Amino acid sequence: MFKKILVANRGEIALRIQRACRELGVKAVMVYSEADKEAKYVKLAEEAVCIGPAASPLSYLNMPAIISAAEVTDAEAIHPGYGFLSENADFAERVEKSGFQFIGPTPESIRIMGDKVSAKQAMIRAGVPCVPGSEGELPDDPVQIRRIAKAVGYPVIIKAAGGGGGRGMRVVHTEAALVNAVQMTKAEAGAAFGNPAVYMEKFLQNPRHVEIQIMADKHRNAVYLGERDCSMQRRHQKVIEEAPAPGIPRKLIDKIGERCVAACKKINYRGAGTFEFLYENGEFYFIEMNTRVQVEHPVTEWVTGVDIVKTQIMVAAGERLPFTQKQIQIRGHAIECRINAEDPFKFTPSPGRVTSWHMPGGPGVRVDSHVYNNYFVPPNYDSMIGKLIVHGDTREQALARMQTALNETVIEGINTNVPLHRELMVDAKFMQGGTNIHYLEHWLSQHKR
Ligand code: ADP
Repeated sequence: MFKKILVANRGEIALRIQRACRELGVKAVMVYSEADKEAKYVKLAEEAVCIGPAASPLSYLNMPAIISAAEVTDAEAIHPGYGFLSENADFAERVEKSGFQFIGPTPESIRIMGDKVSAKQAMIRAGVPCVPGSEGELPDDPVQIRRIAKAVGYPVIIKAAGGGGGRGMRVVHTEAALVNAVQMTKAEAGAAFGNPAVYMEKFLQNPRHVEIQIMADKHRNAVYLGERDCSMQRRHQKVIEEAPAPGIPRKLIDKIGERCVAACKKINYRGAGTFEFLYENGEFYFIEMNTRVQVEHPVTEWVTGVDIVKTQIMVAAGERLPFTQKQIQIRGHAIECRINAEDPFKFTPSPGRVTSWHMPGGPGVRVDSHVYNNYFVPPNYDSMIGKLIVHGDTREQALARMQTALNETVIEGINTNVPLHRELMVDAKFMQGGTNIHYLEHWLSQHKR
């Protein structure tokens, strides 16, 4: 096992990794920008290094600053968390070339999965079902583009190969709008992601977002840790996640889970990863793979009993997976609400001083947050300031616990989306389970206040 690792991230995930390190008896070096001096994990750290000013390009995205922080503190490995440099193949490569272990997959895996066209092609070869669409990047020739769309069937969605964070996508309903839409998406993709390549998929009308968590070691062992339903989205961003996915038969999950495991072995994957699927009419369609720990990992931790972050560190150190597929049993139901510093219904960001912070407790309640009383939420980063996670023997019990937990939550000084979560947890359709990816947007458009 490593003696010391460097945590190259901020916020709740930095604290989460610090906690995993303490359990493993590994020293954690925390990095921070000038805006994060007062963060809880910095105050709790034995060692912390300031890596630059508030602006992310100068600190959390500053590769030389992060690598030299690892050098001066004698860390052996770097945990990238999520966001920032976590899916940057060049960073993973530089980390390893500098003599550190990158806690994640190989740079080659990150590179293949980071390009959605090559990721899809790898998945097709590995036997994972994908959304029907163009076989690869779309050609320039309008005649060929029209021919591909006709074969796929309208409506279609044009997606950027280098896209992410819900950006770089355009839905097309008719042939008349097609060629122009392809050209516009290409131009935007070139400007936003530095890669103008686009591809085409059938636009599924009412799918759910269901993803499979996998964990693999360096000895060709891989296990899937069940699924998560992340259909409650706004602007393609997840708001609520849960495990298991309501109403999907276990044997369907097992079938797709086994496919994901086979794909991991085929591509020699190591570390934690997520295969994201759209699920419609009993079928799974792969959309992309995330090669890092995800925000919503706690719901899986709770229903499987596996500590995903600790396991990431263990397998990076060369240990074998400490569990087999047979030992993974799904117990009960877990739900996560992302707590954002924003207006609950207008979604304008709300950074500032938290004058009062009271978090809930009791059986089956977990809070992952770096915030405390009198903490200042900096305006420079993502608005997510924490996660409230509950577990129950059944989905009904989990819902009841989340309702109680949200009612106990008091956050003052800034606006948060807690009032939105309170309303969603008593919404009849959500309580029934199985809402699709458009449900929340539709609910918000009907919402009267
Ligand atoms: P990103 O990397 O930007 O998150 P994804 O490919 O994961 O992009 O897609 C994000 C979301 O966009 C999905 O969760 C889904 O809501 C929607 N989406 C993507 N592809 C399709 C499709 N073929 N049909 C319908 N919706 C889609």
